[in-house]
Amino acid sequence: MTDKLIKAVSTNGKFRVYVIDATQTVAEAQQRHDTWTNSTAALGRTMIGSILIATSALKEDELMTTRIVGDGPAGAIVVDADAKGNTKGYIQNPHVSLPLNDKHHIDVRGAVGTAGSLSVTKDLHLKEPFTGQTPIVSGEIGEDFAYYLAKSEQIPSAVGVSVFVQPNETVGKAGGFLIQTMPGATDKDITQIENNLKIIPNISELMNEGLSVEEIMDKLMNGIEVKVLDQISVQFKCDCSKEKFSKSLATLQDKELQAMIDENQGAEAVCKFCNNKYQFSADDLAQIIAEKNS
Ligand code: ZN
Repeated sequence: MTDKLIKAVSTNGKFRVYVIDATQTVAEAQQRHDTWTNSTAALGRTMIGSILIATSALKEDELMTTRIVGDGPAGAIVVDADAKGNTKGYIQNPHVSLPLNDKHHIDVRGAVGTAGSLSVTKDLHLKEPFTGQTPIVSGEIGEDFAYYLAKSEQIPSAVGVSVFVQPNETVGKAGGFLIQTMPGATDKDITQIENNLKIIPNISELMNEGLSVEEIMDKLMNGIEVKVLDQISVQFKCDCSKEKFSKSLATLQDKELQAMIDENQGAEAVCKFCNNKYQFSADDLAQIIAEKNS
């Protein structure tokens, strides 16, 4: 099953709007990494923000990596996303579970921390990838993405990212939005959107009430006419394979590979992004050594 993202533009051309339902995608990440509540919310919010930026900024075959490294117990969060709605990611410590914050919400800031950095590396198939980095300003992740977009890419943006985790640790709803302001937007329009955002609950709450991404977009842009341009499917997708891990094993020295054969009768490779495991038998490893030296 896949999730959905819609892209829209205001008919006056001053705003671009993206709204995403990422429930299945974040649910798959939760299951693959066995994350606990705060880690689920932190990883899920980072995935949602990354997909929103990737689908708004990248072309067809370009790829982007977000790294959030804060001083909280969750450790580093790494997420890949592309323009086609594919994403994968992991969190250094999947098992962070903290009491609710004073607003009775999942304490994402407590897991991520309040000091550190958010960096976005875009592989645009140029000689060097482009990396932009800003400090963590909130730790709640949505504000951190908005700050990154404003400071590093000079795009004034409002970002909402939201994950609802059920008491049994599974993901109930996950979604978000990105509103980008183009040059020439009037103060009246901006105030209208700010007022809309003030009264709108979290996206996951609206989704819990049964609202579709189209209906959420109408609420965000209430008073401003918008036109949906496109919709894309979003999914957790990892491109790892046994062949790719064979290639990385082939970069080891013969004696290291031989030690794996002698001591463990093989090796197990684990993909950090999706947690898939690949078994290499002693014969597999012997073949890798033989091919290296052929
Ligand atoms: Zn993988």
